[in-house]
Amino acid sequence: MPQPKKEKEKFLYLYGPVPSRRLGLSLGIDIVPHKNCSYDCIYCQLGTTDYKTTSRKEYTPVRGILEEIKTAVANKQRIDYITFSGSGEPTLHSGIGRIIDGVKKMTSIPTAVLTNGSLLHQSDVRNDLIHASVVLPTLCTVNQEMFIKIHRSVPQLDIMEIVRGYIDFRRMFKGLIWLELMIIKGINDKPEHITGMRSVIEEIAPDRIHLNTVARPPSEDYAEPVTAEVLERIKAMLGSKCEIIAEFRPPGEGHGDGDPSESILSIIQRRPVTIEDLIEVSGLTRGEIIERIEQLMKEGTVISSIHGDRRYYRT
Ligand code: SF4
Repeated sequence: MPQPKKEKEKFLYLYGPVPSRRLGLSLGIDIVPHKNCSYDCIYCQLGTTDYKTTSRKEYTPVRGILEEIKTAVANKQRIDYITFSGSGEPTLHSGIGRIIDGVKKMTSIPTAVLTNGSLLHQSDVRNDLIHASVVLPTLCTVNQEMFIKIHRSVPQLDIMEIVRGYIDFRRMFKGLIWLELMIIKGINDKPEHITGMRSVIEEIAPDRIHLNTVARPPSEDYAEPVTAEVLERIKAMLGSKCEIIAEFRPPGEGHGDGDPSESILSIIQRRPVTIEDLIEVSGLTRGEIIERIEQLMKEGTVISSIHGDRRYYRT
């Protein structure tokens, strides 16, 4: 007698695991609705910010998120990190500390928090992140005028206050801090910009410094990537902890056993992706991916655009 096909779990708050440049295979947790953020970065790959805010609240239910994580972990798929990321700034969620603690109780898989760092000057946020395994905050500048130009933040935020928050967090946090420097062509890519940040970075004392540039289609067309040579020059200025984060390409194995079309759409909904990204995530062939993408484009669900020398697909 034929066995009924196993229903794929439908997750409201999780996506992936997706290949991540820094975190291997990362199970993403999306705890803030699209797109609530304290910033509206010119380089944001999620488009412009719908709700610019520093208001912390329980945007999504802690219990529901933890139940989904429990189910995903029980599936025994490979997960290198459980990562707070997604459609907005995760530290806006007032329950992030409880979620991190809940994950710690259920699994030994490390947790990572991708944050813009804008709320780290608040002690409640620092306390909430204290049990994370890795925190990855961003730093683009220490100049207030440039801070506003790049991040277009809510008015009350001050970059030096934020930086003091990073330093305070470093003093109390026993986990890893991987500081991301986002470099934008013609904006913060000159040697004097890096020199200006260097003493602050020394005080923050991150375990790693990740150099990044505008790799995916940005919110504003004028936010352009710098070349590999520029990143190499900056890396030389920042010492041995600094690395250029290159596109991650895991071994060619498929991940997950759900409906590939659904997993394709769930990834595209979160960020612009290339065909190569989708091959890694779904385990499908190039031809199969293209067939599904063409169908989604015909339905008007997905659009494509060129950025650099790559074609990206997004909803
Ligand atoms: S890049 Fe991050 S911090 Fe900046 S607007 Fe987008 S989600 Fe917010």
